[in-house]
Amino acid sequence: MANPDIGLIVCPCCDFAGAHVRQTAKGRAYIVCDDCSSQTFARGSVSDASIRRRMLPIAAVPVQPDPAPDAPPEKKPKKRTAAAVSPAPTSEPKTGGFGNWLNL
Ligand SMILES: [Zn+2]
Repeated sequence: MANPDIGLIVCPCCDFAGAHVRQTAKGRAYIVCDDCSSQTFARGSVSDASIRRRMLPIAAVPVQPDPAPDAPPEKKPKKRTAAAVSPAPTSEPKTGGFGNWLNL
């Protein structure tokens, strides 16, 4: 099983800001960079302390909040009201034509 991350640090090889700091079984810190695939091991107490001093401890890394589930778009109720429905055409007998001319 891989050693757990204990912090994040800038990769000394490629300047990737999200390189992982892990700890060996013997308690030495080392850097694993997913960007350039480098591994930088502390072989003494000075380099171990240097890595630990420069890293951002994993407890201090802000946890990205889960994105809020997309709220379904607000649905407007589509109620068919009497006002929204166009009135049915009336079938009144049309007057006009020659008879209309006579009523003037
Ligand atoms: Zn790197």
